[in-house]
Amino acid sequence: AGAAGSATAVAHPNIALVKYWGKRDEALVLPRVGSLSMTLDVFATTTRVTLAPGAGRDEVLLDGASAAGSQRQRVVAFLDLVRAGAGSTLKAVVDSRNTVPTGAGLASSASGFAALAVAAAAAYGLDLDVRGLSRLARRGSGSACRSLIAAFAQWHAGTGDLRQADLTSYAEPVPAGAGLDPALVVAVLNAGPKAVSSREAMRRTVATSPLYGPWADSSAEDLDQMRAALAAGDLEEVGRIAERNALGMHATMLAARPAVRYLAPDSLTVLDTVQGLRARGVCAYATMDAGPNVKVLCPRGQAPQVAAAIVGAVPGARVITAGPGPAAYLSAPASAVR
Ligand code: ATP
Repeated sequence: AGAAGSATAVAHPNIALVKYWGKRDEALVLPRVGSLSMTLDVFATTTRVTLAPGAGRDEVLLDGASAAGSQRQRVVAFLDLVRAGAGSTLKAVVDSRNTVPTGAGLASSASGFAALAVAAAAAYGLDLDVRGLSRLARRGSGSACRSLIAAFAQWHAGTGDLRQADLTSYAEPVPAGAGLDPALVVAVLNAGPKAVSSREAMRRTVATSPLYGPWADSSAEDLDQMRAALAAGDLEEVGRIAERNALGMHATMLAARPAVRYLAPDSLTVLDTVQGLRARGVCAYATMDAGPNVKVLCPRGQAPQVAAAIVGAVPGARVITAGPGPAAYLSAPASAVR
C-alpha cells in the first residue's frame, strides 16, 4: 500500500487489571513484566495525520492548541520512527483530540499513541498488521500497545525488539468467558495533570524501591491467574486479582526513594466505599493508576449502584461507567486495521 497522505484514526484508553509498571529497556519501551488490560468504550482519542510536503517541521495540535516542549517532542520522535520505517522524510501535521483529561492517570497516552500509530502508519504508507501496529504504538507509550486490541488484551513482555526473532513485545486479545459482563466505573476525583509523570515514577520505583522486585515477581503470577479467571468468566476472581495487583503496585511506589504517592484522601474514601459495597454483597473491586482517580470493576448490572455509592461518599466526584471497548481503527480513509 502506498502513502495515503492523510489518515484519521480512533482509539480508546485501556485500564490495566494486571499493571504495567517498570521498564527493562527505556529506549525500546520493553516492560519488566507482562500486563493485562480492558480497553474502554469511552474517552476516545481521534487523531488525523496529514503529510506536509515542503514543511520544515512537524506541527502537533493537541485539543486544538499547538503543542510545545516535551509533548511535541514525544510526537515528533514517534513520527521519526514511522518515517524511518516508511523511508520518508516528509513532515506532517498531527491533529489529535482527547475526550479524556490529559495526563491525569486516565490513560490519555494509551489512546493517544494508539490512534497516532494507526493514523501515521496509514498516512506514510507503512504496511503493518495489528501486531506491528501494537509494537509501534508501544514505542510512543508502553500501554498504548494494548489499545490496538478490543476488550481484554495481554501485553507480552517479549524478548526484545531489534532482531527479527525478537519482535515479541506486543499485545493480543485475551479470551473471556461468555458470561462475563463487566463494567468499569471510573471515578474522576481530580482531572488535573499529575505532578510526577508515569515515566519518571516508574524509573524511580525500579531504581530505588525495595518492594519492586517482589511485586514484579508476584505480578507474573497474577497474570496467569487473571487469564484463567477471565476464561472462566469469574468476575469476582478477576476483581480480587486486579485489586491486589494495583495495591501492590502503589506499595512499590510508596517505598521508592523519594516516595511517589498518587493516591489522595478521596481515593482512599472510594477504596473504603468499595470495601463497604463488598460487605453488602456487591461484586466491586478497585484499581488505580498513576493518578488519584479510582476505577471500580463490577458487573454491568451493578454499575449504577456502585456509581451512586461513590458519589454519595465523594460528592464532587464525576463518575463515568465504561464497558469493554473496540480496537483502534482507521476512520478515514474508511477501512479496518488488518
Ligand atoms: P497513563 O495513564 O498512561 O500514565 P496519562 O495520560 O495519565 O497516561 P502520561 O503517561 O503522563 O499520563 O501521558 C500523558 C502525555 O501523553 C501527555 O502529556 C502527552 O505528552 C501525551 N499525550 C496524551 N494524549 C496524546 C495525544 N492524543 N496525542 C499525542 N500525545 C498525547
